Amino acid sequence: VCDFEPGAIVSDACASYNTLEQLNEAIHPYLHSITQNTDFFSHYRLSLYTKKCPFWNDENGMCGNVACAVNTLENEEDIPLVWRAKELGKLEGPTAHHPGKKQQREHKQRPLQGELGANVDESCVVEYDDECDDRDYCIPEDQSATAKGDYVSLVDNPERFTGYAGVGSQQVWEAIYRENCFSKPPKNGQTTAQSSFGGFGSQQQMLAANQLRNVMKEQGFQQNVKSAIAQGTAPATLDPVEFDDTCLEKRVFYRVVSGMHASISTHLCWDYLNQTTGQWSPNLACYEKRLHNFPDRISNIYFNYALVMRAVGKIKQHIKDYSFCSEDPEQDLRTKNSVLRLASAIPAGPEIFDETVMFQDPDTLALKEDFRNRFRNVSRIMDCVGCDKCRLWGKLQTNGYGTALKVLFEFDENDSSKDPPLRRTELVALVNTMHRLSHSLMAIKEFRQMIEERDAIS
Ligand code: FAD
Repeated sequence: VCDFEPGAIVSDACASYNTLEQLNEAIHPYLHSITQNTDFFSHYRLSLYTKKCPFWNDENGMCGNVACAVNTLENEEDIPLVWRAKELGKLEGPTAHHPGKKQQREHKQRPLQGELGANVDESCVVEYDDECDDRDYCIPEDQSATAKGDYVSLVDNPERFTGYAGVGSQQVWEAIYRENCFSKPPKNGQTTAQSSFGGFGSQQQMLAANQLRNVMKEQGFQQNVKSAIAQGTAPATLDPVEFDDTCLEKRVFYRVVSGMHASISTHLCWDYLNQTTGQWSPNLACYEKRLHNFPDRISNIYFNYALVMRAVGKIKQHIKDYSFCSEDPEQDLRTKNSVLRLASAIPAGPEIFDETVMFQDPDTLALKEDFRNRFRNVSRIMDCVGCDKCRLWGKLQTNGYGTALKVLFEFDENDSSKDPPLRRTELVALVNTMHRLSHSLMAIKEFRQMIEERDAIS
């Protein structure tokens, strides 16, 4: 039976709720400004319609509601310069061939002479390959100028209630949680599985896992966390149940997925469509049903916030050297400075989230590849989401968490010479995912206040 772990929380890996909330008060305005006001971070390019669900026939799970639709940018002039393939394409030609993966690696050790024209940074050149680097945690969104890709304004297509529900969405969530079914820790450096699809996904296993999950829910262990959250004293690491036979890395995988799910639920409850009045407003009943009575889910949002925040703090040096390529140096400088302001507001080192406790034990080291493969599968499952808006934000956030994991586990804060390259879609996804989590923390605080006020009256 898989290890479904609704209550499992990593010990000693991240800061307390109070610390995270205080930090969020300070950081939220920076995040809001970057994601809403800069061309670079308010837009995204992805394959929204061209990839078919690789796991099942998803035609019955399609959402036909207007709210599920995405307005893509069809006209070249609507796409900001910093995102125009044509602009990036200008940098092609004999002086600026994008280096292949092998060359990129060599380039890290020995600069490629004359390969990237003078003053042309790698991040400014159209990426032709959508191949995974060995150290990627996600399937990269195709950024090639020739392959089909869709440009979207994230500001004009906010993540909110869409009405996508039922068997279609349930099937996707179940498939994502099934990725948490790690096999026994590998021995002798073997990896466990390339893909859990086909290997672990039997109906019986799913039923057994669901039963286990329900039993755990009924045990009511979440009550301790609930009161601690209400008092603001709980560390985000509070662990009401210890799963002795479950290693830290598997718990982290579960928490990332559950925290992403909980954060999506928070946004859809916060920006909810009252179908009688046609008004968009917070829906307290939705919050209570999906989150308030499940403190472990809320705790997982805090956990993810700490994890992503640590990753953003860790790329400070990378951003200093990064080219934003809008052809408008002033705009690029403003964008760079706003990200640096954000990264500088994040406490350095393991104070917020200590990634160094993971993948240290020789027994768990081989789990890393398994962990990475499972995360790539979650990213593939996103093509099975039958609502365009949900797929857009689902893909962006999966990429954001994948990028955070890549930065945490593959980047060296002190020596960036061997760091894998960071694609522009990864950077945009990382910062927007942090903004989504930050918004979730704000919304949860408001929802809690609404409950207190309601209870004070009754
Ligand atoms: P679901 O949220 O579908 O949950 C299914 C089951 O998972 C629950 O019954 C519960 O047992 C378990 N569960 C729920 N939350 C957690 C958690 N945090 N951790 C662990 N287990 C949990 N809808 C929108 O309106 N707007 C969106 O932007 C949107 N984006 C989506 C993105 C993706 C990738 C997917 C798959 C769905 C999205 N949806 C969105 C749909 C939404 O997530 C719900 O599936 C839908 O609202 C139906 O909710 P539900 O009450 O049936 O439970």
